[in-house]
Amino acid sequence: MFTLRAAVMWTVNDFSAYAMVSGWSTKGYMACPVCKEDVTSGWHAGKVCYLGHRRWLPWDHEWREKDKEFDGNTERRLRPREWSGDEILEQLNRLDFAPFGKTVSRTRPSTHLNWTHKPMFFELPYWSKLKLRHNLDVMHVEKNVFDTLVGTILDIEGKTKDTIKARLDLERMGIRRGLWMNRDSDKARRDLAFFSMKPNDKKEFLKFVSSVKFPDGYASNIAHCVNVDGGKFTGLKSHDCHVFMQRLLPVGIRHLLPEDVVKQIILLSSFLHKYDARDGSLARRGIACWSCQLSLDVSNRKASRRAEKKCTQQGEARRINCRGLGSI
Ligand SMILES: [Zn+2]
Repeated sequence: MFTLRAAVMWTVNDFSAYAMVSGWSTKGYMACPVCKEDVTSGWHAGKVCYLGHRRWLPWDHEWREKDKEFDGNTERRLRPREWSGDEILEQLNRLDFAPFGKTVSRTRPSTHLNWTHKPMFFELPYWSKLKLRHNLDVMHVEKNVFDTLVGTILDIEGKTKDTIKARLDLERMGIRRGLWMNRDSDKARRDLAFFSMKPNDKKEFLKFVSSVKFPDGYASNIAHCVNVDGGKFTGLKSHDCHVFMQRLLPVGIRHLLPEDVVKQIILLSSFLHKYDARDGSLARRGIACWSCQLSLDVSNRKASRRAEKKCTQQGEARRINCRGLGSI
């Protein structure tokens, strides 16, 4: 006989469960449990969006000074401060939460910020001393990233984030002119973006995915989840998305999308491959750099296209002048 002792080191959960285990609601304008009330959020394209990823870059990073390439503003704020466990506990002890029960009114006073309750983990004597209390399950995060990314590059209706509302929002912010609505005719039209595949390329990509064979037990038969004629995926499990994201996507898109788009997707894919939960800060900086580089690439592409167009126009003007001179 012996006495078994156990200790809770941390929790591993998805983002919705984070609200329950941490006591900080993961909805609304202050949804981020790390930045808390210092989060950068706003209403864009009919949703609450979280911007300000450049705050995580080093203080003297050149990207902080750029504006049009990102959200239209330069970034001079430092990263949000990190709250220690003791500070959080002190704050929670000061707040007066309503007792549990369905009949109790749940209107939260503004002084409570996004705190909904004091989690019972704080009854553990060491809980407030832990450096890391809650972890996000990478598989869940990866599936959400996969759904959004593939939905957007394949321009799948209902899944893509490149919607009319998003385009109108870019117009309102005055950035990414190349992605604004096309108003050449009577009706405003959403042209296919440069990061989305053309219908024929999309079919080729889906055919490639349905033809891939995996070793036994490596992944489920992804071919069964591909609808080539319908142009979409159905019934992909979290693990299928994981294999797809890290193995199939970098290979499948190489000759179907522009080089700069492919480069960023491959970088994201390899980032997820190397993702190491033991070093959250490095991972955070990595993803901040990646999202900044993505914004910059989209913007540079616009600038290079403008320059290209200008050169062509100048060239054309020179040719016309020469022709004119020739006829004289
Ligand atoms: Zn945050």
